Amino acid sequence: MIKLTETITAISTAMSDSGIGIVRMSGPEAFEIADRIYKGKKQLSSQESHTVHYGWIKDGEDTIDEVLVILMRGPHSYTGEDTVEINCHGGVFVVRKILETVLKNGARAAEPGEFTKRAFLNGRMDLSRAEAVIDVIHSKNEFALKNSVSQLRGSIQRKIQAMRDEILYHTAYIESALDDPEHISLDGYAESLVEKTEKLLKELKKLINTADNGRKIQEGIRTVIVGKPNAGKSSLLNVLVGEDRAIVTDIEGTTRDILEEHIQLNGVSLNIVDTAGIRQTEDVVEKIGVDRARNQAEEADLIIFVVDASRNLDENDFEIMRMIEDKNVIVLLNKSDLKTMVTPKMVKEHLDKPMIEISAKEEEGIYELEQTVKEMFFQGGLTFNDEVYITNVRQKEALLQAFTSLSQVKESIESGMPEDFYTIDLMDAYEALGNITGETIGEDLVNEIFSKFCMGK
Ligand code: GDP
Repeated sequence: MIKLTETITAISTAMSDSGIGIVRMSGPEAFEIADRIYKGKKQLSSQESHTVHYGWIKDGEDTIDEVLVILMRGPHSYTGEDTVEINCHGGVFVVRKILETVLKNGARAAEPGEFTKRAFLNGRMDLSRAEAVIDVIHSKNEFALKNSVSQLRGSIQRKIQAMRDEILYHTAYIESALDDPEHISLDGYAESLVEKTEKLLKELKKLINTADNGRKIQEGIRTVIVGKPNAGKSSLLNVLVGEDRAIVTDIEGTTRDILEEHIQLNGVSLNIVDTAGIRQTEDVVEKIGVDRARNQAEEADLIIFVVDASRNLDENDFEIMRMIEDKNVIVLLNKSDLKTMVTPKMVKEHLDKPMIEISAKEEEGIYELEQTVKEMFFQGGLTFNDEVYITNVRQKEALLQAFTSLSQVKESIESGMPEDFYTIDLMDAYEALGNITGETIGEDLVNEIFSKFCMGK
């Protein structure tokens, strides 16, 4: 086990005035430092693990705050090390002051994610679980949270571990047989290995295929609303954004007027792109008409095409239809509260996509829209019984690598290559999968992964 000699500390709660703030310490000196700054009835370092103590934090003679201190002795703590959490009043100034006192008494300021990194280095969790921690923190909807928690509980780790064990077994068997051909026979082994490899490839493929949905769960479905001027796009947007559904995000680093709105639809997130374009009412002709739609539609997961059903279809509508015919589209026949000129059948002749009659004005048809989105992307629903969704690009890359190596194994066997030829590929697959659990990963990459974490985690 890696020896981590320094005691680290950070503020683990948000830096805004709030009820409670937590300063956390982890490392060999955590209890000693706590003793130096805590004044209460008892000496903390002689107390049992997992106990809470009331008292005061002092910086020399100065009393800083009234606190509750939680003690957790390694290895039974998040990091696997002695850990002390000081719960103080949550003002920005007072929390900082306590942090400074802890620093003054021998701790070092933790880097972002360093607590979780220690948990990983100390063997408290594998890398897939550590990464799930950050995903839980960043979850924006119910499904994202459920998936991250399932990963946190080891759903990916178990799958990957089982595959690695199997690969290692075969490699070891072949190697032993090559070393000791008199006692271990490889007769027929290659044929059975092909079968097993196929099974593994199937499993890998299944996992890789979840990645696209995984991204949509985690980040939201990239959605563009298109339709000719006055079809009702901004009215629809307002309905969707209303009712506490939206987290409006001004995405940094994008073009001045591209604003993304993050909308919760019954547990699924839609990231509606270029809402600024929709909202710019002065530019009536453009107003996310054809040209903008063309640009946005390329990268969208979903296109919501709003048709003004109270007016006849015109060349504008037809042009948009041609542009989006091979995309994921939901057609909304809007203004169903008025006398309608356009029927679903009329649109279907040109564009055969799921279609819903709605009224943005009366807020009708929104539930049907939610259902259609779910059916389109998640076959009506998401289950979390044993399903794992890959949400992490790095993990997907590793799975693809393992897939390539195992395909190579299969190919080599089938073209009659000698055993020692494909054990190399078996080991490559083993290593690639090890990147996911973190067993075969270099220090630089570990540092990079944890540097993306938040402070104090
Ligand atoms: P956009 O140009 O596509 O963004 O269209 P707007 O949302 O600005 O709507 C154009 C006009 O249609 C506005 O006067 C809206 O009030 C009206 N409108 C939008 N949706 C409906 C609807 O469902 N029913 C009715 N009767 N009017 C609507």
